[in-house]
Amino acid sequence: MIQKILRVTLLISVLSLITACSEKIENFKSDQTNGSLLISNALIYDGSGQAAFEGNLRIKNGVIVAIGDIAVLNGEKMWDAGGLALAPGFIDPHSHFDRKFKEKPAPASALAQGITTIITGVDGYTVRPVKQMFAEFEESPAAVNMAAFGPHNNYRAAVMGDDFHRIATAEEIAKMGEMLTADLAAGVLGLGTGVEYEPALYSNIEELITLAKIASQVGGRYTSHIRSEDIAFYQALDELITIAREAKIPANISHMKLAMAALWGQSSKVVELLNKARAEGLDITADMYPYDGWQSTMQVLLPERNLTDRKAYEYALQSIALPSTIIVTMYEPNPAYVGKTLAQIAEQEAVDPVDMLMKMVQITSSKKMGEMIIGRNISEQDIQNFMRWPFTSISSDGMTDDRHPRGQGAFPRVLARYVREKGILSLPEAIRKMTSLTATSLGLEKIGLLKEGYAADIILFDPARITDHGTFTDPVQYSTGIKATWVNGKLVWHNDKATENRPGRILRRPR
Ligand SMILES: [Zn+2]
Repeated sequence: MIQKILRVTLLISVLSLITACSEKIENFKSDQTNGSLLISNALIYDGSGQAAFEGNLRIKNGVIVAIGDIAVLNGEKMWDAGGLALAPGFIDPHSHFDRKFKEKPAPASALAQGITTIITGVDGYTVRPVKQMFAEFEESPAAVNMAAFGPHNNYRAAVMGDDFHRIATAEEIAKMGEMLTADLAAGVLGLGTGVEYEPALYSNIEELITLAKIASQVGGRYTSHIRSEDIAFYQALDELITIAREAKIPANISHMKLAMAALWGQSSKVVELLNKARAEGLDITADMYPYDGWQSTMQVLLPERNLTDRKAYEYALQSIALPSTIIVTMYEPNPAYVGKTLAQIAEQEAVDPVDMLMKMVQITSSKKMGEMIIGRNISEQDIQNFMRWPFTSISSDGMTDDRHPRGQGAFPRVLARYVREKGILSLPEAIRKMTSLTATSLGLEKIGLLKEGYAADIILFDPARITDHGTFTDPVQYSTGIKATWVNGKLVWHNDKATENRPGRILRRPR
């Protein structure tokens, strides 16, 4: 009896082994031989901004090889798009999903939005040396592609250590330049800065121009979280434009916004300044996310970092963000504060909001504990104006399972709210701002269009249904409406789930 059971078990094992093998052989055939895939019956938005057309699209070896009125080949695999929209995968030019790639290489936060390429090194931070980070990614890829900017904050921290509250010496800047040169050789897109954060906060424009010139010399670009998005916004904008002019470098404003009530309604004036710079011949672009709230540290409310000056806090809560518009999203000394507004916390603790903020900043900074807030102080009118500017691409600034809804919803929110509901953008124009415009602004080639010879980074989605679901109080709700996503020709997302495929590549600066 035991022998019989053993024999049956053995037989089942052998059978399942054969099945598994033949599956592998099947996969091998479709991947490595001349197998191609025809996506048929699609409404094609090619990413250029042109109107959609009906057609088919053929993928082979990770590349789009034919598009339009093409017939199926003998024995070719087919995917019926059912008349849904087919578009290039979305490129996220300001993104932090790489932080959790080791745990979540196929993050639903990003894939449910249709993101197929992320850009790191923005805000001036990533993992260095970039050459090694790229090698690790290629050893164990994510489901999406990745490119990077050379991270200024990392350079400055490495060179100056704790002694960074000052202007750097020429020698120190030269050392930062050597690190940038190494990263440029590894293929970064250019220089990324986050001048509102330590240690870059203490850099001067000469340091930034010197480094930007190094990037410019090899065809690199500049992208920046500018020095101020509130009190000193215009000086910060002027600094970026001056860097573009002096270093002869294309310059991009990260997550463009006017985050201060006193600046509300000035987006038209800002757009005029940007157009003037472009008319001068400067290649100025921007990216943005479609929310009325940002997420950062409490300390950005104090640009002078005068943490003991009560007047600075008073000014911040009167002029930058009201206590009722500040939501705590991380506060390590007391996690019970998370999800509450500063006004609610102050009321609960029976203190003035100014004193409450002061206390929270001082505790976290002295104990080096984490804190994060969302400030909902951006006007809807300005969001719409900035979005309409033809050189603004869409970004998420998101990370996996983000405490800000942008990490789960930035791209679908543009399509649902600003295309479908408000008609601020046409669908082809919105898709252009998520694909070909972004690729051009980053200097990336052969991605961002549905076109022969371009990478087969493709999404299939329902324009009538695509929707973001995360909110400021319940952010980790994945978007819906993306039916299928291919990265380099491999299916990575289907039926609201990630597949097993991890076909992401590193996109290096073209030479
Ligand atoms: Zn930023």
